[in-house]
Amino acid sequence: MKLNELKLTNPYLELPEECYDRVTPTPLIRPHLIHANKDVAKVLDIDESELESEAFVTFLNGKHAEEGSDTFAMCYAGHQFGHYVPRLGDGRAINIGTIDKYHLQLKGAGITEYSRHGDGRAVLRSSIREYLMSEAMQGLSIPSTLCLGIIGSDHNVRRETIEKAAVVCRVSTSWVRFGTFEYYAHEGMFKELEALADYAIDENFPHIKGKDNRYTLLFNDVMIITARLIAQWMSVGFNHGVMNTDNMSIAGLTIDYGPYAFLDDFRHDNICNHTDQHGRYSFENQPQVAKWNLRALMMALSPLSTVEKMEKNLAMFDKIYMRYYHYYMCKKLGLPGTVEGDPELIDDMLDMLEMLQVDYTLFFRTLSHYEGDRAALLRTGLYHEPMNAWLDRYDARIKTIDTAVRKEQMLGANPKYVLKNYMLQEAIDAAEKGDFSVVDDLFKIAQNPFDEHPEFERWAGATPNEFKNKKLSCSS
Ligand code: AMP
Ligand code: MG
Repeated sequence: MKLNELKLTNPYLELPEECYDRVTPTPLIRPHLIHANKDVAKVLDIDESELESEAFVTFLNGKHAEEGSDTFAMCYAGHQFGHYVPRLGDGRAINIGTIDKYHLQLKGAGITEYSRHGDGRAVLRSSIREYLMSEAMQGLSIPSTLCLGIIGSDHNVRRETIEKAAVVCRVSTSWVRFGTFEYYAHEGMFKELEALADYAIDENFPHIKGKDNRYTLLFNDVMIITARLIAQWMSVGFNHGVMNTDNMSIAGLTIDYGPYAFLDDFRHDNICNHTDQHGRYSFENQPQVAKWNLRALMMALSPLSTVEKMEKNLAMFDKIYMRYYHYYMCKKLGLPGTVEGDPELIDDMLDMLEMLQVDYTLFFRTLSHYEGDRAALLRTGLYHEPMNAWLDRYDARIKTIDTAVRKEQMLGANPKYVLKNYMLQEAIDAAEKGDFSVVDDLFKIAQNPFDEHPEFERWAGATPNEFKNKKLSCSS
């Protein structure tokens, strides 16, 4: 389909008007295309040829949306670092419409009712990070929002220094956050709360639609998909960095990419967000923070459902999370299922990796090729003894598993490449000089992280020492 043939609808505008604010995008100066995502275009039934057109840049720049059109920003609240902020909302993301079940949003498209002191813009650096990482999540089969494309511009914005503004067109089956529910609950707007819950059920949980106890079921479903999402993050070594309740998707998606990181050397207490002084959102805290956030959602849903029932569901979180976690970790280890002793094997492996300062991704990829010769594995760590001791246990565990079957499973479960921060920084440094070739390269490995890509071998090793375990600023 051509861009001008797209039929954009706006189901969110059927909710009470307290749920959003109508606002049109403020286009950027001299926009230019940085990258277009053909796969996402296909999902939206947009012709591939359109992606090279001037019309596509205009579309991403929000120029087609004129005064009085149905574009809008969503209202929400949220707990940020444990403190309730009564009103946040889309301060720089403007929703431009829905195609099929996908909602399109321009992030960085200008000021809205919810911008507070912000300028409504997003810098090139953070936009590239969001664009590439959402695709990397697709490549890893981890639920995430998507991006259709990214544009840069000559538009200056002030952060620590003057930077250029960009826009990403984000695409998702839901932009509703835990914090969206919190807003209506805390404001005592229970009619709006109920309408929002029914909207979310309609969109993402149709199997519970119309049921008497649907709000309790909604909470239960969100709890389960959140547990699964966090288990996937943990298994792949992803640290989100800003798990505020406004950054938690009701649809169990990875959402709002900020100062996130893939682990370099394995560290339980890895902190990737410079602002997170106490490590609230450290790597190891992610499951418990998710549970804390689910409790906040539970309280927000309490006017619609009985807290006791939801409490009972929430009490299952640890067990459900652990079941998913062991499932994903056993897949990484090439084990056909979880048996007694496997959880200890996994825990002891992580302690060993931390002690030996082993690159998390490299270890699993190397282990995927393991057939008894330990040399390559031993080279990944500082000392040999603890790894040898662990490998003895691993050898005993895999003794009865067919090696070819195990290797195939592991090579499909352990990416050769993840987008580490130093790689993203390389793409950003080049992009800031007008060279988008590294963005193109990282996009390729993001899409197919399990493939060999011999041309990108230099990114397959451990993170260079000077770039390891760095924290990033939240400013974006
Ligand atoms: P984030 O850290 O991107 O999840 O944003 C947290 C909140 O701050 C959201 O309500 C954003 O819309 C808002 N926000 C972040 N940056 C800006 C900005 N430059 N202008 C306006 N609002 C912003
Ligand atoms: Mg956010």
